[in-house]
Amino acid sequence: MRRLAFLAVPVDDVTTPEALDWFAHAIAGRSCAQVCTVNPEFVMAAQHNGAFRAVLQAAPLCLPDGQGLLWASRLRGHTLRERVAGSSFVWRIGARAAADGWRIFLLGAAEGVAAAAAQVLCAAHPALQVVGTYSGSPHPDALPAILAQVHAAQPDVLLVAYGAPQQDLWIAANRAVLAVPVMMGVGGALDFVAGVAQRAPQWMQQLGLEWLHRLLLQPWRWRRMLALPQFAWLMLTQPDAVREI
Ligand code: UDP
Repeated sequence: MRRLAFLAVPVDDVTTPEALDWFAHAIAGRSCAQVCTVNPEFVMAAQHNGAFRAVLQAAPLCLPDGQGLLWASRLRGHTLRERVAGSSFVWRIGARAAADGWRIFLLGAAEGVAAAAAQVLCAAHPALQVVGTYSGSPHPDALPAILAQVHAAQPDVLLVAYGAPQQDLWIAANRAVLAVPVMMGVGGALDFVAGVAQRAPQWMQQLGLEWLHRLLLQPWRWRRMLALPQFAWLMLTQPDAVREI
């Protein structure tokens, strides 16, 4: 698999079907693999958060989640083929899981959201086995209850919605005890699936303006979103901002 580094943060050049095949392989191998959804905010956070950077560098699959990565990859002559946005990919996981019999566990988001997301996914794919939903919390005190539920449910895929970077740090710290073949942080994706948050319209996604939609709906994110112009500046000016690894 071709892998790029954006300022030392890995991103795999995968398409959606390839990523799903990767899941199938990891599930067959019972591998306890962590999947991350990298976007420009991740890249910038990883510049000053060494623990987050280490988690991303150790993850065997880093999906190209952000449109800004595709722009930068083209600019620097290492084009990524496709954006695999976590929020869309969750739907595709649901479809493939229903077809292949993968057992899914939805962890995180506000009380009731994971269960609502499970209902929506199961309505779209009646064969889908959502074997557990639990709000939980990334706080260490919540770990025993989470482990009890996950171990009893025996999922193949654990989707964790605690927001970045907490969810990714939490998965990395508990990967071995969770012992689920594929564990992936999904940020606000369960909110979108459950319909408690709206994604940007398709035309905005295609123009790479999903960030603007988010900023309009959640203006308190402005400070965090300063990462986007900083990312663009570094991509334009930094030697070796994007390289093949
Ligand atoms: N969340 C949670 N527990 C926490 C912090 C966050 O369940 O302690 C959930 C929150 O309800 C939301 C998701 O994590 O469903 C984070 O969404 P956000 O859009 O902030 O994440 P991002 O996509 O920016 O990583």
